[in-house]
Amino acid sequence: MPHGATHLYVPGPTNLPEAVRRALNVAMQDHRAPDFPRLTLPLFEDLKEVFKTRSGRVFLYPGSGTGAWEAAISNTLNRGDRVLMSRFGQFSHLWVDMAERLGLDVICVDVEWGKGVPVEDYERHLADDPSIKGVFATHNETATGVTSDVAAVRRAMDAQGSDALLFVDGVSSIASIDFRMDEWRVDLAVTGSQKGLMLPAGLGILAVSEKALEASRSSTMERCYFDFVDMISTNDAGYFPYTPPVALLHGLRASLDLLFEEGMEQVFRRHHRLAGGVRRGVSALGLELCAVAPEWYSDTVTAIRVPEHVDGAAVCRIGYQRYRTSFGAGLTKVAGKVFRIGHLGDLNEVSCLAALASAEMALADAGADIPLGAGVAAAQAYYRAALTDEAARSPEPGLVTAPVR
Ligand SMILES: *Cc1c(COP(=O)(O)O)cnc(C)c1O
Repeated sequence: MPHGATHLYVPGPTNLPEAVRRALNVAMQDHRAPDFPRLTLPLFEDLKEVFKTRSGRVFLYPGSGTGAWEAAISNTLNRGDRVLMSRFGQFSHLWVDMAERLGLDVICVDVEWGKGVPVEDYERHLADDPSIKGVFATHNETATGVTSDVAAVRRAMDAQGSDALLFVDGVSSIASIDFRMDEWRVDLAVTGSQKGLMLPAGLGILAVSEKALEASRSSTMERCYFDFVDMISTNDAGYFPYTPPVALLHGLRASLDLLFEEGMEQVFRRHHRLAGGVRRGVSALGLELCAVAPEWYSDTVTAIRVPEHVDGAAVCRIGYQRYRTSFGAGLTKVAGKVFRIGHLGDLNEVSCLAALASAEMALADAGADIPLGAGVAAAQAYYRAALTDEAARSPEPGLVTAPVR
């Protein structure tokens, strides 16, 4: 076996910071012990800060993002309820599929893969149909590298006087891209542990507004494992209705400490900067993004269109086998046509340069005619300028900054 790390650039699971890995390594403990709430109660409070909610509450389910999707729907809606959704990538597609399988009456707006939530279409549907009970938005479509404007969805709902619940999939945005639950009046916000929170998979995390809690009191959809009632009755005292993944909760403590130490706004800026370098690198290679316009560009994942005669799956395979680098594959509709660089979580500029360097080699080996090194060089130039600029604006003691020449 070759030595050195295997480089992980899938958009989840993401790299574990060393402090998180250490925190995960705990002896098992009694989750009904008197001092267990000392661990759990602050986690609920601190997660509210991550979601930017004061009035909402957070649920931690053993599970994954998909489980939190189901918890959101099954606690607040009824079979046959009409809901408004849109589909523009594999994850938004899967949420539509779940909603249909749970018996909702789904109005699904299909959108070109590469664009995001169609706010004007949403507004039209809301105007036409006041019976809509839920409006769904995938904040960051991980399959295509597209971020949508949740605030604009809320504005469209307000403009039409809709009192529907606003459901947002923030699995690959929350804790990496700015998310404002209270300001946007999001009612149900979903994430998972293995993306921006830099943990292994295993937690489905759901933030819920007071309005959604109120709706859950009269909703009749069948639910048991995910029932808010059982969660609330134990969570308030710092316990769970069933065995929580204790190690993950310790990992979550470490992850939140890291995020707060950096500062959430700094975390968002870092992701924006890292993404900017990757996008400039892609452009310098003469390649296009799957996202069709800058308004949709994602700061956590870049989906790159491969040239016509090149197989995106081969880029991923060569990247993995030859260069020990995991990229995200193109999924379903864009299988073979794109590959993805995930740049969320525990990453920095040099991590992204490594991703570009590896991608360039894999692309060239897969038959793409690209100028080797050009992507890396463009990203280097961008990062140097961006970091010098940043350092000039907020000089940190002890930080050595080289002038850009
Ligand atoms: C990863 C992801 C999911 C699925 O989450 P799991 O934790 O794999 O269940 C859902 N939506 C988006 C946008 C994702 O990126």
